[in-house]
Amino acid sequence: HNYTRDDIFHIVEEEDVAFIRLQFTDIFGTMKNMAVTVGQLEKALDNRCMFDVSSLEGVADEEESDMYLYPDLSTFEIFPWRPQQGKVARLICDVYKKDGTPYEGDPRYVLRKAVAEAKEMGYTMNVGPECEFFLFHTDDDGRPTTVTHEQGGYFDVGPLDLGENARRDMILTLEDMGFEIISSHHEIAPAQHEIDFHYDEAMITADNLMTFKMVVKTIAKRHGLHATFMPKPKSETYGSGMHINLSLYKNDGTNALYNAEDENGLSQEGYYFIGGLMKHMKAITCITNPTINSYKRFVPGYEAPVYMGWSAKTRGPLIRVSMEKEDNSRLELRSPDATANPYLALAVLLKAGVDGIKNQIMPPKNIDENIQKMTQERRDELQVEELPRTLGAATAELEKDELLISVLGKELAEKIIKANKKEYKEYCMQVTDWEIDHYLYRL
Ligand code: GLN
Ligand code: MG
Ligand code: MG
Ligand code: MG
Repeated sequence: HNYTRDDIFHIVEEEDVAFIRLQFTDIFGTMKNMAVTVGQLEKALDNRCMFDVSSLEGVADEEESDMYLYPDLSTFEIFPWRPQQGKVARLICDVYKKDGTPYEGDPRYVLRKAVAEAKEMGYTMNVGPECEFFLFHTDDDGRPTTVTHEQGGYFDVGPLDLGENARRDMILTLEDMGFEIISSHHEIAPAQHEIDFHYDEAMITADNLMTFKMVVKTIAKRHGLHATFMPKPKSETYGSGMHINLSLYKNDGTNALYNAEDENGLSQEGYYFIGGLMKHMKAITCITNPTINSYKRFVPGYEAPVYMGWSAKTRGPLIRVSMEKEDNSRLELRSPDATANPYLALAVLLKAGVDGIKNQIMPPKNIDENIQKMTQERRDELQVEELPRTLGAATAELEKDELLISVLGKELAEKIIKANKKEYKEYCMQVTDWEIDHYLYRL
């Protein structure tokens, strides 16, 4: 939307809005908000709403603790599930420091900067995500479990699909909030679902992803279910990914990645863009797959990538090139999961791809055989590399990647690295049930 201040005041009056939530996202991808009443709207729109970040995770050691929220008027939206009298609306905000400059630790700023730099080079990136999630039962105290009585499978229809009503409600709510839903279906595992919404420019999609996750969780709860984007909630079945479809346009509106003459449908820039992604992929993984649990998804046999390869012909490579129709051209990156901070994830993907173009980085040769099924000898012969297998390994890759550190900003990158190392160390200390089961009586 292209809302002006007056439009906002007008809608608020007309729609009987009583509360406005000023939203932002922390570095770990968690949405935060401060609610103000309508009486404070003018102050909020004047960028005068201050908040204290000193006890926010990831910013605790910041010297300045007073930050200002600058609402982005285009993000004004009413929450359809809240009371219809005295409605609740939200504005997504940028975070600014007291001196009137953007706060470098604001993920939205990181993406804004990446988008502006790409634009300067002549490029705009469109992004369409495919979010997968599970709907589980809650226990008698309302706490989430990993229990489901559902037996549905890939593309199953009701009544097998107990999440059907919840999913329908999610979609209608999202549409109420301006989303264009492309499709939704039952995923492979019992209780697993996918909803795909229309692609848009990177910043809009990142905002949309934050809204999407909030809506899915909120509506699931209203149906007595718990929605989780946890990448691998159950060991014995498929995990949940968030495939990211990328396309790149030149400032004149033409598709930068496409060339009908090429065997893979790729332009020279298309090859370089993939080259940049592949070069930085291991460090990118630290951002697109930021939790310990993210790496439990990267095991063979569950349609998640394990090896690093790209192809226009096979079904499940890390990067699937799909250039058959010009207006539908895209690169599908299949590694990310929805625990990623969408602002940071899209910033590093855009900058890595554009870095490939800038430095004319050719990707490794495409592999049009099924990498997962080939022998290790064949993989060695083709010099196929693996994605990092742990958060610890991915963090070490990020530490070495100067481009990614500069995209994230040195301070923000350091905070992520420090937090990951702490988390990984804690995790490594844990003795799991699996170990007790396998070793206790035998050793
Ligand atoms: N759930 C699979 C993953 O972990 C993807 C399955 C699919 O969409 N084909 O990425
Ligand atoms: Mg899909
Ligand atoms: Mg899917
Ligand atoms: Mg897909």
